[in-house]
Amino acid sequence: MREPTFRKGDALLIVDVQNDFCPGGSLPIDEGDTVVPILNELIAAAENAGAPVFVSRDWHPSNHPSFTPEGGAWPPHCLQDTEGAKFHPDLLLPANVMLVTKGTRFDKDQHSAFDETGLTGVLKRREIRRIWIGGLALDVCVRATALDARKAGFQVHLIKAATRPVTPEGGADALTELTRAGVSIAE
Ligand SMILES: [Zn+2]
Repeated sequence: MREPTFRKGDALLIVDVQNDFCPGGSLPIDEGDTVVPILNELIAAAENAGAPVFVSRDWHPSNHPSFTPEGGAWPPHCLQDTEGAKFHPDLLLPANVMLVTKGTRFDKDQHSAFDETGLTGVLKRREIRRIWIGGLALDVCVRATALDARKAGFQVHLIKAATRPVTPEGGADALTELTRAGVSIAE
């Protein structure tokens, strides 16, 4: 990975690096935990540059509509206040990290960190123009978040080394779709 140069107007957004999405969790992503040391480097670089760090989390009630028993597509995961919903223990989040909570609604899922969370407003108030994104999973919540960031008018860089897909095919499709939407893929 070539380390991004954070500058004024940049933010780092880390998507859903939670225990349930890592090996041993209830919806594990292959090598999901391998993004952690890379993200830690990015967090340090962002902090050195004075760029704000945002972190999203899936935070579901027990009968969330995305769960298979409710007719959804996923096994129950990231239940509120459980170990599985905690961030990976090695992720070194800064004390002033901005937390974005999603997936709490009873009527729909929210894959994107921008989906009715107010995130666009806080980024614009802080005069953020460019967002660097990493986290889990590339073909689900990272994809939706990066697409919404583009729709909201931000420049978006996806850090490829800092994300992993649920499936390799899904990951390849997501990269194609994101590139088409104007997201820069940073190797
Ligand atoms: Zn979820």
